[in-house]
Amino acid sequence: MVRVPSNKSKEGGVKAAVRLYYEIQGDQVVLKNKKCPRCGSVMAHHMKPVERWHCGKCNYTEFVGSKTGTKK
Ligand SMILES: [Zn+2]
Repeated sequence: MVRVPSNKSKEGGVKAAVRLYYEIQGDQVVLKNKKCPRCGSVMAHHMKPVERWHCGKCNYTEFVGSKTGTKK
């Protein structure tokens, strides 16, 4: 007899939050989802010194807006 654990169908506790697809490559993190709006190639994610996206192909850089504006 196989005992099946009563799984309450609660659709999991964790909502399928935006799980991004990271891939650590040495010093940088490459997110496969993020594509360069300019040339369409995959951008590299840099954390230092500031979090930003950088396209190595066309040099497009997009800063992650975690510090938008100046709040005091
Ligand atoms: Zn580009």
